[in-house]
Amino acid sequence: MNMSIISLDKEYVAGTYGRFPVELISGKGSIITDVNGKEYIDMGSGIGVTAFGFGDEAWIAATTAQLGKLQHTSNLYYTEPCALLAQALCEKTGLKKVFFGNSGAEANECAIKVARKYSAEKKGPEYSTIITLINSFHGRTLTTLAATGQDHFHKLFQPLTPGFTHVPANDAAALEAAVTEGKIAGIMLECVQGEGGVLPLTAEFVAAAAKLCANHDIPLIIDEVQTGNGRTGSLYSYMQFGITPDIVTTAKGLGGGLPIGACLMGEKVQNVLGPGDHGSTYGGNPVCCAGALSVINRLDDAFLQEVQAKSAYVFSALNNARGVESVAGMGLMIGIKTVKPAKDVVNACMERGVLCLTAKDKVRLLPALNIPMEDLKQAVAVIKSVCAE
Ligand SMILES: *Cc1c(COP(=O)(O)O)cnc(C)c1O
Repeated sequence: MNMSIISLDKEYVAGTYGRFPVELISGKGSIITDVNGKEYIDMGSGIGVTAFGFGDEAWIAATTAQLGKLQHTSNLYYTEPCALLAQALCEKTGLKKVFFGNSGAEANECAIKVARKYSAEKKGPEYSTIITLINSFHGRTLTTLAATGQDHFHKLFQPLTPGFTHVPANDAAALEAAVTEGKIAGIMLECVQGEGGVLPLTAEFVAAAAKLCANHDIPLIIDEVQTGNGRTGSLYSYMQFGITPDIVTTAKGLGGGLPIGACLMGEKVQNVLGPGDHGSTYGGNPVCCAGALSVINRLDDAFLQEVQAKSAYVFSALNNARGVESVAGMGLMIGIKTVKPAKDVVNACMERGVLCLTAKDKVRLLPALNIPMEDLKQAVAVIKSVCAE
């Protein structure tokens, strides 16, 4: 047997991913190297996960130090990284308690359980419906798939978990109608729809959702799985909308590359979960939490200002560039509508040593938050020239 890794993978790994024909083997900073020694500037960071790039010294020191002490204990015991990370998340957001899982979908599953239990106890078990937005993305489990407002993900997996209804983004009247007509347990939204095409919600709509939730005593859940942890230029994207969510979910960039998800609960719902209500074998894993703590502790105001400056650079370089129809997003979460099909742009960029993502019909950029300016400039120049051709 002397099969290449690509053909081995094709033979034995479930065919759920349309992978690019590239085998990656190592990285440093925002440069990633394939098996042939070709280098790429990474503008995707593993879909917004490797927040500080590859080989980041502080993150490696934090995770390996913990790896040498205890790699796992189960949730039957206390460990320092879990408690310190929960404290840091609460102190930086004003939320009160954290449940740790392993992924964005699990963070959202927790949020849905919290909202349903809160509403069932407060108003009755028939108050179970969660409102989400059309074109949203909340995960791949059967429940978070039901929450996801995109029919094409649903078709082959019926029946999904019941109790979800979807309204159009930025339509406050439709949201209000759904709240008054239904038995609603929660509203869940992304302030910038990521997988849906990097579409920021309007400030008016987010404010209207927060007001409806407050008036009707409905927990407001903000899904910060992709937008969180500095990605949009603030610690969490909701902070730029002037609202106070009851529940915030996050994952992706939080772990810097190790799997972790968190469901943060505010004052109103902080005591909803009691013993036995929820759990996770790996949740709060000390190595993942130690890495996440090193990520969170570096996202201070000065650093977030650098993220905003890099964002401003990308927007100004690509806005009105030839072959670019529009640029949308916040911070270093950027969607580019190109004249050419996004897939063609991404493939041509890859040829020229720049790895980009797509979201719907857009080219999506989610570089490491600390991408060096020279790498960013070079990547943008390649994207620009591919779009202009
Ligand atoms: C990626 C994503 C999820 C799912 O996260 P997983 O870690 O893949 O389960 C949920 N919500 C949003 C907004 C996401 O971008």
